[in-house]
Amino acid sequence: MAYSAPFRLGISACLLGEEVRHDGGHKRDTGLIDALGSLVEWVSVCPEVEIGLGTPREPIRLVRRTDGRVELVSVETQIDLTQRMRAHARQRVKEFEQLGLDGYVFKRDSPSCGVFRVPVWSEAGAPDGAGRGLFAEELMRALPAMPVEEEGRLHDAHLREHFIERLSAYRETKTS
Ligand code: SF4
Repeated sequence: MAYSAPFRLGISACLLGEEVRHDGGHKRDTGLIDALGSLVEWVSVCPEVEIGLGTPREPIRLVRRTDGRVELVSVETQIDLTQRMRAHARQRVKEFEQLGLDGYVFKRDSPSCGVFRVPVWSEAGAPDGAGRGLFAEELMRALPAMPVEEEGRLHDAHLREHFIERLSAYRETKTS
């Protein structure tokens, strides 16, 4: 199906090949970019770099506190980055609204960007279930109707087609 204009999609910057990961590398997803590239204008975002953590940097992860709260914490230095990340996400949401984003593709398993089944750790350092990356969580809370997906799921042709249909429908609701 032909669309009148490219969809404007946020994307985790490492998926485009930008060397923004904690180890200084990237996670370029050529299959995804090739499959969606002609339909999409990408808006590249690395929330961890944007909050000033730098590259390379100490890894961070989701930690479940004894009272049940899930926080974003640096693994070695145990710095709590939760409020910093949430405040930054809320600011970025305003910018995304001004940009008219049609959707977002997030990097799976990331404590900032992951949407589904992101590992959560206990304070003692043991696996403690699954959660959602904090940047993704704030964005999805603020823009609940906006289509979001993870890169791995978009390798499935049916899920990808469904995502594109959702993007189209969402864009129509914004202009009607
Ligand atoms: S997953 Fe998100 S926070 Fe991590 S490197 Fe990629 S864009 Fe940055």
